[in-house]
Amino acid sequence: MYIAYHSRYTDNVRLVQETLVLRARVANICGYNTFAEFALEHQMAKNPANVQHFLDNLETKIGLLASENRKKLVQLKKKDMKNLGKEYVDFYTWDEAYYSHMLTKEMFDLNTEHVKEYFPLKHVIQTAISIFENLLGLQTKRAGSPNVWHPDVELYEVWDPIENLLVGHLYLDLYSRKNKCTGGTTFYLRPGFVQIDKLRECPVSAIVVDFPKPSNTSQALLSLTQVKTIFHELGHAFHNICTKTKWGGLCSSNVEHDFVEMPSQLMENWCLQPSQSTTLQTEI
Ligand SMILES: [Zn+2]
Repeated sequence: MYIAYHSRYTDNVRLVQETLVLRARVANICGYNTFAEFALEHQMAKNPANVQHFLDNLETKIGLLASENRKKLVQLKKKDMKNLGKEYVDFYTWDEAYYSHMLTKEMFDLNTEHVKEYFPLKHVIQTAISIFENLLGLQTKRAGSPNVWHPDVELYEVWDPIENLLVGHLYLDLYSRKNKCTGGTTFYLRPGFVQIDKLRECPVSAIVVDFPKPSNTSQALLSLTQVKTIFHELGHAFHNICTKTKWGGLCSSNVEHDFVEMPSQLMENWCLQPSQSTTLQTEI
C-alpha cells in the first residue's frame, strides 16, 4: 500500500530528471558550476560547502541517537512478529511510524489524550500571546467589534506601549468549521512599509488553524503538537507585524528563503523549554 501510494505519479520520475537537467543548464549559462551554487548564493547558507558542513555537523550530533533508536524499533518489530507467530523479514520504511508509536507508548506509557488535559485552548492562547508580548516588548488589545469573515474570528491590535504606537493587527481564526482548511497557516494580509508621507503602514497577519471549539459546558483541549503549532504560527505572524522596512516587497516572508521558518521554529522550540511550558500548563 505504501509503495502504491508513493508511486501514484510515475510521470514525476521523468519530470524530475528533466528538471535536474534544465536546472544544471540554467546554472551553467549563468556562470555557475552547479544549480546548488546558483540557488544558494542569495540564501543565508551562501554555498554548497556550508550546507554540507551543516549536514555533517547534524549527523555527528544525532547520527548515533538515530541508529540507537532504529535498533530499538527493529527489536520491537522482531518481538511483535514473534508474538504474532510470524517470521521477521526486514524493517521497512512503512514500519517506522507504527513502531515509533509503539515504542513511545512502551517507554513512556504516554497517552496523548491525557497530555491534552494540561493544555486548555483558552489558557494556552492567552499565555502564548503574553509570552510574545514580554519577549518583544509589545502589548495586544482585543478589538471590540471587528469586521471579520466569520463570528469565530478575533482581532487584536498590537501596540508598542513605550512609544504608544500601533504596530500591527493580528487576526485569530482558531476553530475548525465546515469547509475550512485543515492544519495551520499564517496569512500576511498586508505588509508593513513606509508610505510616501513617511508614515508606517501597519502590517496585518491572520493565523488560521483548525482547533476544537470550546462549548458552553466543556473546554477545548490542545495536543502538544497543536500547542507547538500556535507558537509556530505566532512566530510567523509577529515576524510580519514587527517588520520595519521601507519596501512592502521586503516585508516578513520576503527574506532569504532559508530564513523564512526561523522565527516560527525558534518560537516552536521555545514553548518546549521547561520554564515556558510550565506556564502553558494548567489543571482543568
Ligand atoms: Zn512555518
